Amino acid sequence: MLDTAAIRAKYAEERDKRIRAEGNAQYRELTGKFAHLKDDPYMPVIPRDAVTDHADFTFIGGGFAGLVVGAKLKEAGIQSVRIIDKAGDFGGNWYWNRYPGAQCDTASMIYLPLLEETGHMPSEKYAHAPEILEHSRRIARTFGLYENALFHTAVTSLTWDDAAGVWVVSTDRGDRFTTRHVGLGTGPLHVAKLPGIPGLERFKGHSFHTSRWDYDYTGGSPEGAPLSKLADKRVAIIGTGATAVQVVPHLSASAGKLYVCQRTPSSVDVRNNAPIDPEWFASIAKPGWQYEWLDNFAAWQTGMVMPEVDLVDDGWTDLAKMMRAKMAEIPADQRTPAAMFASFEDADHEKMEQIRARTDEVVADKETADKLKAWYRQLCKRPCFHDAYLQSFNNPNTVLLDTDGKGVEEITENGVVVGGIEYPVDCIVYASGFEVGTDYRRRCGFDVAGTGGRLLSEAWADGMRSKHGIHVHGFPNLFIVQPQQGANLISNVPHNIIDSAKTFARILSHMQAEGLTRVEVTAEAEADWLKLLDSGPGPMLGSVDCTPGYYNNEGKGWEEAGAGLGRGYPWGAVAYFAYIEGWRSDGRFDGLAFA
Ligand code: NDP
Repeated sequence: MLDTAAIRAKYAEERDKRIRAEGNAQYRELTGKFAHLKDDPYMPVIPRDAVTDHADFTFIGGGFAGLVVGAKLKEAGIQSVRIIDKAGDFGGNWYWNRYPGAQCDTASMIYLPLLEETGHMPSEKYAHAPEILEHSRRIARTFGLYENALFHTAVTSLTWDDAAGVWVVSTDRGDRFTTRHVGLGTGPLHVAKLPGIPGLERFKGHSFHTSRWDYDYTGGSPEGAPLSKLADKRVAIIGTGATAVQVVPHLSASAGKLYVCQRTPSSVDVRNNAPIDPEWFASIAKPGWQYEWLDNFAAWQTGMVMPEVDLVDDGWTDLAKMMRAKMAEIPADQRTPAAMFASFEDADHEKMEQIRARTDEVVADKETADKLKAWYRQLCKRPCFHDAYLQSFNNPNTVLLDTDGKGVEEITENGVVVGGIEYPVDCIVYASGFEVGTDYRRRCGFDVAGTGGRLLSEAWADGMRSKHGIHVHGFPNLFIVQPQQGANLISNVPHNIIDSAKTFARILSHMQAEGLTRVEVTAEAEADWLKLLDSGPGPMLGSVDCTPGYYNNEGKGWEEAGAGLGRGYPWGAVAYFAYIEGWRSDGRFDGLAFA
């Protein structure tokens, strides 16, 4: 029997230790002295002429959002599609994150979009980054998306010209072209940040952020070749989030000495990766199979009716099953929100006890094992899954520098300071994550000027406002791709993207067929949608009683910042997908005004 009160007290104590008044302001941007850390280490920037033409549809972001929207528009017969990205190729996060061990935590069968359309069989249950990057390129090749793409190009302004009924796009490569429609898929986690540690700029050794891995310095390759140049090096890695969990086993295997600097431990559950058997794959890959898998996973995560089988069957669905089993124990007439939360909490405590017990089973040194235990509910921070991370701490060259929630105290010319002791190192790897709670304009790198020159940053000054997370009043012919205010299925973001892409394709096909050139959500429809979202039970993620991190805006929650990370359709993702399929299929596109 779990001592719920004791667990809650421990969670609160650990949380309180970590709260910092400065919130997001504690982090440092990769600007000034650190600007070079943002440079593309993978591909040179190729000179080209400025573009001054017209495209029917321009999409900003060449990650999964741009790729899937581009593919669905091409399928719908819209040929003039241009995708722009700051990177040198397609892939988005998978272009930038080539650190050793990078891998997706969501099963490939549902994470990799358009598998049926491209005829690709994933090689493993959880694909590694090089395969995901190659799959991105495959989608682009299959749907002819390279033809009109602009890479190593950052949009600097996006302005609606009401008289001409077009958007004017300007970029840092001197481009200035018009486009009838614009899609925004700039992604939630792509602006790298550095930890706010005093003395960061003083370090004389080598350093880089994990999203710009320096293989020239470390040796090795994204495919997993040993980091041979680190054999005689002392390396510190700062951060123990989902990225570090994947990097540490590789550094531990290759570096002369490795210090893992920890502020908050991640919860690290079993991974159980395995190759996909081609015979098995051939037996299940019947037309429509991937859409069935997507729906099945979403149903396990948020559906009201459980499917008979669990096709993905992993840590994500396991947690969902535990929660549902607990809820089923509550008599039907007693299922109040408080009772539901209590059963959710019970299931979570059980899961976290299992995960904490796993550190004792795996890590030989008791003190290290204790320090690696995560004291918060599993969904307070990004759950991690790995079968070599905890094991790394059994290697004699690998030392956990736990900071008891305080963070690294200082960086000197020679190394890192933890607990008053300086640890000299040759290299610091920043696994310190990406900006989430900062101003959208800062993350996007530009503002969007809609009708009458009104800026999106002004329209969203008190929080995001949209219908379906896609349409914003005052911004005609603009389509946004991201999960919030829609399905908000965080455990499989591509599912949200695929669904949005279907919606765009339907709207644009309708406009093409009817000779329409302008679409905008009405103010009333937008307000009604927000009212509907507000009527829900509130977000699953981002609670202020959680330990701080980007899920809960560094402990401050999302109330002040307006609509938060966790705000979605009140009845969950499965219900949203059913609703939106009806909305886009009935031909009325309720709430949109066309001209
Ligand atoms: P995170 O933001 O999750 O982690 C940043 C780390 O840096 C945290 O451990 C943080 O500690 C630590 N940190 C920050 N400041 C300091 C400091 N002053 N001293 C010491 N440590 C500090 O970034 P990640 O790159 O790990 O992950 C970002 C997201 O990207 C993930 O949550 C996930 O959504 C996605 N991702 C997905 C992967 C997958 O599918 N497998 C793999 C990798 C990333 P603290 O926790 O205390 O703030």
